[in-house]
Order: sequence, then structure tokens, then C-alpha cells
Amino acid sequence: MLQLSDISALQSQVKRWKVSQQRLVFVPTMGNLHQGHLQLVRQARSSGDKVIVSIFVNPMQFAPGTDFDRYPRTLKDDTQQLDTLDVDVLFTPAVNDIYPQDLEKTTKVIVPGLSDILCGEFRPGHFVGVTTIVAKLFNLVQPDVAIFGEKDYQQLAIIKKMVADLGFPVEIQSVSTIREADGLAMSSRNQYLTPEERAKAPLLYQTLQALKKQIDSGASGFPEYESRAMLALQQGGFRPEYVSIRHAATLAPASDNNSPLVILAAAWLGTARLIDNIAV
Ligand code: AMP
Repeated sequence: MLQLSDISALQSQVKRWKVSQQRLVFVPTMGNLHQGHLQLVRQARSSGDKVIVSIFVNPMQFAPGTDFDRYPRTLKDDTQQLDTLDVDVLFTPAVNDIYPQDLEKTTKVIVPGLSDILCGEFRPGHFVGVTTIVAKLFNLVQPDVAIFGEKDYQQLAIIKKMVADLGFPVEIQSVSTIREADGLAMSSRNQYLTPEERAKAPLLYQTLQALKKQIDSGASGFPEYESRAMLALQQGGFRPEYVSIRHAATLAPASDNNSPLVILAAAWLGTARLIDNIAV
């Protein structure tokens, strides 16, 4: 595995592969890799000729005063894990190379609407940071395929829309959420949980599963069910931001279960903001 931090070195490698018509598959990450990330990499390996993984903790998607500084950075471990998965290039650009100017002066990519609801409502500016970095990385890596996790369901929907709206020649693939044995979705932020909080954390997925069961057996009047799910989380020690039943394709609020739905939730447990979702 070649580890490249230099943007022009990455671009030269990409150019050589493009000339020889290699199919490039890209997995963008913020590092601190767990089995969820590794599943994306495995799918990448089987989806093309060359696999490029990036590790970049993107300051633009963190609001001031949130966890950018304490976000776990474990490059040595990450490199070892990727090496065993037959990755071709690990791209680890420096913040100053990606953003040579102040963030306020940097050109942004905005996907309106979808970026402003759910997590976007509670993390203003977050998805602009995500779409801007993903667009920039797509331009640098020029992948034929890029792979994202369904754990970040809203992010996946926003990236699909960006790709469609701007005509990026990239096929977006997704991977189902990888979970711990007790159902908690794997996340780098799970490390912020104390042992006591970690023991409570599976309640988030259990709440989504219970709600799915109710919808599957014909529940109607969704706002009432959403409120009850929020209450269950609160009683379990969470500070929920939202539990919301949405149309899977558009993320518009759902009022009946006649089309594919997704239930999404975000909730704080101690200093960790956890998100999860389940298809109905
Ligand atoms: P992150 O490093 O958190 O930005 O995540 C990088 C990619 O891994 C994103 O596409 C995430 O959706 C995906 N991912 C993170 N956690 C999981 C998980 N538990 N299962 C599947 N994919 C995941």
C-alpha cells in the first residue's frame, strides 16, 4: 500500500491508472477505522481494480467548539488494518493543503433542503462541510465508484443528490450498517462513552427496532409514536435530538407506511452524539 499525503503525488498516480483504464474505487473516511469502515473497503476491493482510501478529519464539517480537536486520530493502527485489506493507496492530505485559505474564504458545495433537515437542523453548516470535502476529494481522486455507509443515511442521500445535480461521473455504492454484538452501530464516537453510558447505548437501536415493529404492524399517527420513542430514550438516559419517520428516497416526513420508509434518530449520551437509522 502506498501512503500519499501530497496532493500532486496522488494526482500523478491517478493519472497513470486512468491512462491504463483501471477502475478506481474510493472510500473517504475520517480514520479511527473500525469494522464498519473495513466493510466499505472490502466492498471497494471487489468493485474495481484499484482501491483508494482517504483519511482526513475535515475541519469544515465540525462547528467551532465541537469535537474536532478530540476526534480520535489513530493513523498507525489504521494503516496496519488497511494494509491487510489490499488497499492500493492511502491518501492522508494535510488540512493546509486541502484548505490553503481560511474556511470562510473557501468555495463551498451546498445541497439545499436535504442538508437543512434532521441532523442539519441541529448541526448547521455540517453538511456543507461534508459535501465540500467529498466534492474536492472526488475531483482529486476521480473515482469510478465511491462507497459510503448507510449508518450516515442522510449524508448518503445528500451525496447522491450532489452527484446527480453536479453530474459527477461517479457511481455511489452503499454498505449496510455494521453493528456491535448488542446492536450499537459502530462509530468512532462510541469511544467517548463511559462504561456506564456504553451499557445504555444499545437502547438507541432497540428504540428504532420497536418503532419499526409498530409501523410494520400498521401503526398510524406517526408523530405520536415519534414522541413516545423520544421519551423512551430520555428515560434511558439519552438527550434525544430527533426520532423521525421519513420516506426512504426523499427524507420527507412520512404519514403512512405505503412506501419504503426509514426511521432516523440522533441522541446525545454523555458527550457522545450518536446517530442511527433503520429501514421499514
Ligand atoms: P467516518 O470516518 O465516520 O466519516 O465514516 C466514513 C465512512 O464509513 C462513511 O461512509 C460512514 O457512513 C461509514 N461508516 C461509519 N460507521 C459505519 C458503520 N457502523 N457501518 C457501515 N458504515 C459505516
